[in-house]
Amino acid sequence: MANASIWTCPVCGNLLTETQKSFICEKRHCFDKAKSGYVNLLPVSRKHAKLPGDNAEMIRARRDFLHQNYYQHLQTAICKAIKTYMPENGILLDAGCGEGYYTKQICETISGECYGVDISKTAADFAARTDKISHYAVGSIFHLPVSDQSCDLLINIFAPYCETEFIRVLKSHAYFIMVIPSTRHLWELKAAVYDHPYENQVKDYPLEGFIFQEKISCEKRILLSHSQDIQNLFQMTPYAYRTGTKERERLQSLQNLEVQTSFEILIYQKER
Ligand SMILES: [Zn+2]
Repeated sequence: MANASIWTCPVCGNLLTETQKSFICEKRHCFDKAKSGYVNLLPVSRKHAKLPGDNAEMIRARRDFLHQNYYQHLQTAICKAIKTYMPENGILLDAGCGEGYYTKQICETISGECYGVDISKTAADFAARTDKISHYAVGSIFHLPVSDQSCDLLINIFAPYCETEFIRVLKSHAYFIMVIPSTRHLWELKAAVYDHPYENQVKDYPLEGFIFQEKISCEKRILLSHSQDIQNLFQMTPYAYRTGTKERERLQSLQNLEVQTSFEILIYQKER
């Protein structure tokens, strides 16, 4: 039994056909499915690090934090937006899906097929282990292993943006949803750790090739009552990379923290 898929061959670019254990293109390039079910479509030439993407420690921190449903309000808001913009039985791509926390819920919301791509093998493996309905691949957002004009909706949650690739894989006039942190997101966490915290910069909304539709704000104050949860949340932020000893000590001394979460869900439609 063979199934059509939106995945494309990273060697020749032809469409891949799914068989029981692998994906194969018409030139017979073959990619085996991992035991968990994902397929690795990241060519070795594009793999600049031994394990690209977020490291295992960051993925573990994010997984532990998200699975306590601290961001359930965001998950719910994203699914609501998708219900509004996703056509019946359409194809959705989650570009930069991480360990599939949002993807899995989205897949349970829609009537069509759900695909997730992440550059981290550890993340894709975890996603495929916990979500047996969506399709997961290891791949780069900047060279998506996805066929032209195959997606009815593309979602990008805190992941890198690639204009040319997103436009390429979306069908004509299809929707694109981008989720970003708002200016005051996690303000109390930053204020507790840094001498001079600063607000997040939010880019201009217009995007080349897309027509901006609407912005949905999603805000909630959350109470973190365990030191480990606070540290896990901090690990998920981009500032975790540039934190010194003093800041790390402050972070570790925090036993509980009430913090503002603040997201923007931006909806776009492909221009042509
Ligand atoms: Zn091929």
